[in-house]
Amino acid sequence: MRKRVFGSICLTSFVTLLLTAALLMIAVYSGMESDVRDRLKNESIHLVDVSEDRTLLERIGRSYAERITLIAENGDVLYDNQGDASQMENHLSRPEVAQAIKTGVGQGQRLSHTLDRKTYYYAVRLPDGAVLRLGSTADSAFGALRTVSPWIVLVLLLTLLVAALLASWLTHILLAPIIALDLRQPLKNAAYDELSPLLHRMAAQNKKIDAQMDELKRRQAEFDDITTRMDEGLVLLSAQGEILFANHASRRLFPKEEAHGTYLTLCRDPEYIRVVEQALSGESTRGKLERDGRAYALTASSVAGEGQGHAAVLFIVDVTEREQAERQRQEFSANVSHELKTPLTSIMGIAEIMENGIVRPEDIGRFAGSIRSEATRLLALIEDIIRLSRLDEGGMQESFEPVDLYAVCVSVRDRLQQKALQNRIALTLEGEMAVVSGVRQTLEQMAFNLCDNAITYNRPDGSVTLFAGIACGQPVLRVSDTGIGIAPADQARVFERFYRVDKSHAKSTGGTGLGLSIVKHGAQLHGAEVSMQSVLDRGTTIEIRFPKG
Ligand code: ADP
Repeated sequence: MRKRVFGSICLTSFVTLLLTAALLMIAVYSGMESDVRDRLKNESIHLVDVSEDRTLLERIGRSYAERITLIAENGDVLYDNQGDASQMENHLSRPEVAQAIKTGVGQGQRLSHTLDRKTYYYAVRLPDGAVLRLGSTADSAFGALRTVSPWIVLVLLLTLLVAALLASWLTHILLAPIIALDLRQPLKNAAYDELSPLLHRMAAQNKKIDAQMDELKRRQAEFDDITTRMDEGLVLLSAQGEILFANHASRRLFPKEEAHGTYLTLCRDPEYIRVVEQALSGESTRGKLERDGRAYALTASSVAGEGQGHAAVLFIVDVTEREQAERQRQEFSANVSHELKTPLTSIMGIAEIMENGIVRPEDIGRFAGSIRSEATRLLALIEDIIRLSRLDEGGMQESFEPVDLYAVCVSVRDRLQQKALQNRIALTLEGEMAVVSGVRQTLEQMAFNLCDNAITYNRPDGSVTLFAGIACGQPVLRVSDTGIGIAPADQARVFERFYRVDKSHAKSTGGTGLGLSIVKHGAQLHGAEVSMQSVLDRGTTIEIRFPKG
């Protein structure tokens, strides 16, 4: 803009100057021409008077600046003060002479050969019929131009320089308020009045844009907030496979790669590439990706764009836990059917023998006893399965109440006292009142399972100590025994469903293999932590530490 304004001012000045110079020259030149003609006319009036006296005319002619020519009526030159009249050609053809002979007065003008100079003629017919002609030579317009042109050029250049300086100054003065405009606050500008409608419009536009920007920012923040807090990875890909957006979770899932560029910079796994490329080719698809020991489900949706090709939306979900749970569920189902089948098969076998009448009457009692014990085991198993599945569902929350762990232990001790006596185990209870918020039935089951195991996996003349009380400000339930202990390799696994250290004695101990699993899930339900210390052949201590207050 600065250049344009500057150029326009310069061009205007130049053209104006040129026109002015040309008009001035025309005016001056035509003034000069009319001066010459007037002068010739006036002088001719004086010379007419002396023209009768040829000697006087010649005398005047010698010192006369202008050319004087006396021409006879027939055109012969009688006298010329600037040349030899006898050598001159007939002048009848000269327009001014011809005109003077005809009308009494004649005028003419002619350019010299070089066009530089021009001669003006004024002819008057004398009373005797001859013609007196005066001639004055001056620069022609062209000649005059040639003479003054260096000056004109110099003046033009100088004026142009001044015009350029003025233009630059004017440009600065004109544009300074426009350049200084604060477009963020158009109405605060005190520039030209002519700009006022534009500035008002700008202010309105700014207001509109600000509102739109605010809305856009709000939506962007909302989108960022949601996508940042998403556990699932979300990646948006353009039809060209460029990453338009990749949320935090997706970068967490693919930490080593860059989260911009094309989809290949995110991950190089063949399955991932297959899923993405299929979506980009227009077919929504799913896949599974395993990375660093974790499993991810990939869902790629193809989105038809306006132009050619398909964009893609990729969802990445960490399904490691879900798959583990699914595996555990399948294992559990298989184990449950196996565990349920075992006692039932025994019962059926005994019943078959009895049915066939092979059993002697004195053995019937023993066989019936076996059926009862297998049925009892089956019942215990079913009860444990039901308890565990309830805990799995995180149920029984509604029946939370203040429960005294010491009172729970008293009840458990009483229930197991008989078994302890049978196994020659000294069962003691220590501690004090320790109230927790919990499900009484579950807490009793947990304490029972721990105490039952401590008696079962013990030795004759061993001991079991039940403790309920407060330790380090936290309610604690602890069961210690002097039993067979658990090898370090089995210590973590004993909490798994149906895991038994010694599978061969499962039947004789009467356990379901779910006791410690119920303890673990029961503890989770109460937000408690389970810890175990065990030394082979020395004994085991299992402690449940409940949250404070
Ligand atoms: P079970 O019904 O077989 O007792 P649990 O889940 O209660 O099932 O226990 C799992 C396994 O852990 C048991 O089979 C046993 O081998 C071992 N175990 C549990 N408690 C003790 C303990 N106090 N001392 C030694 N081993 C134990």
